[in-house]
Amino acid sequence: MTGLERFGHVIGGETTGSADGATMTSVDPTTRTAWAEVALGAAVDVDRAVASARKAFDEGPWPRMTQAERSRILHAFADVLLAHADELGLLDTRDMGRPLTATRDNDVVRGAANFRFFADDARLAADASFPGHPGHHIYTRHEPAGVVAAVSPWNFPLMQATWKIAPALAYGNTVVLKPAEQSPASATRLAELALEAGLPPGVLNVVHGLGPAGAGEALVSHRGVDLITFTGETRTGEAIMRSAAEGVRAVSFELGGKGASVVFDDADIDRAVAVAADAAFSNAGQICLAGSRVLVHRDVHDRVVAALVKQAERLRLGDPREPGTDIGPLSSEEHHAKVTGHLRRAAEEGAVLLTGGPRDGWWVAPTVVVDAAPDAAICREEVFGPVVTVHPFDTEEEAVRIANATPYGLSAMVFTSRLARAHRVAGRLRAGNVWVNCFWVRDLRSPFGGFGRSGIGREGGGHSREFFTEAKTVVMDVG
Ligand code: NAD
Repeated sequence: MTGLERFGHVIGGETTGSADGATMTSVDPTTRTAWAEVALGAAVDVDRAVASARKAFDEGPWPRMTQAERSRILHAFADVLLAHADELGLLDTRDMGRPLTATRDNDVVRGAANFRFFADDARLAADASFPGHPGHHIYTRHEPAGVVAAVSPWNFPLMQATWKIAPALAYGNTVVLKPAEQSPASATRLAELALEAGLPPGVLNVVHGLGPAGAGEALVSHRGVDLITFTGETRTGEAIMRSAAEGVRAVSFELGGKGASVVFDDADIDRAVAVAADAAFSNAGQICLAGSRVLVHRDVHDRVVAALVKQAERLRLGDPREPGTDIGPLSSEEHHAKVTGHLRRAAEEGAVLLTGGPRDGWWVAPTVVVDAAPDAAICREEVFGPVVTVHPFDTEEEAVRIANATPYGLSAMVFTSRLARAHRVAGRLRAGNVWVNCFWVRDLRSPFGGFGRSGIGREGGGHSREFFTEAKTVVMDVG
């Protein structure tokens, strides 16, 4: 194919095609045409990438460097990423339609911050010793675990990849990344830029391809892989867990969500609506943490609904490359069909769409849905689009019950001006992340992950260290 940009695998420091020459295309959801030709990996390409990561781990300098030297290279990597922010941001925007102002100014910056944070966290980490044994010295070591398979989703392509790669590398491992097939481009550049920053060849490898029966499945099934970190759908997590059982490999999973924004009658309503709208519609709702259900105390229900509709209608749909655009197209034709199918079904089942709905192309306007039955699919399943359902409640008890009535448990937002209620409800919500009167504020030292079907394990700070290293206890006779 001509006129398309090309992106290869990055294996052992070389950008390369697939062994059989197979390729796939990435479609720009704004123009709905292919813009990039991408290597389509198979098991043989995964073999090469894992062998390269294995060699870099078993024989190369990376796991053997001082922590200070590794950290210095990771900071250099962050510098290189920031210097390429325009390019990297545009790659993600073309692949999946997120506005450039967000991919360039937020995601690349956060990606660089991930490297800086874990570079420092690893450099400053200490190990324990256990005194009280006159004849023995007992202490722990945290050692690099080996070859990490990182499988990432399309909703924040670069940012999600760095959230996995940064801690894996900082603690001395080598990595094979399989990015989502819908958003492959920035991963190739990420691995190429890593070499520029001084990462030894083979330390960070990228293999492109499909998930089931493709490079994804081949990677997580590969016996040369020691650890698997995955972000994506819960169903995919189940499949990967089956693969990981072979060889008893550890998994860290960040999966789907069905978050709730709970608005009490004592809340600052204007602020609650602004934050709840952001939690529902940001990135066109393609956020695992999205507050896709808004639960509102009956006394303020109508006021909140009216304000939410107004807020939804204020958001600007458009070309994600244009600076004023809030909502780009959904990431792919398939995903657009899924989201609009949810809306159609909800309407058929009696729910009322107050605003929003499908637009020309793959856009969906921010949609506010009321009167959906609690057991309707739109209330239970992860829609992953700019769609929010609103539900009234009468008591705190009922609000907590509705919020928790989902197999997921990733995020919840509470809006109240009463201190005791804020703490009480935060304690009762079954979610890995609870925000009170705010959304999405993060400290990378804090644990990130989900209850229930939203994941396994936590990442962030010491939690990432626990996953990406093997802890060892050494007992030495000094008598
Ligand atoms: P997905 O599960 O379809 O795909 C994610 C990745 O897994 C892709 O790279 C895909 O190729 C690969 N994959 C698919 N099947 C596989 C298999 N059998 N073996 C190995 N790899 C396989 O998810 P998606 O549609 O790309 O992303 C959206 C989902 O991700 C949503 O459910 C969202 O909630 C979730 N997500 C969760 C978090 C979190 O932190 N909890 C963050 C972002 C996204």
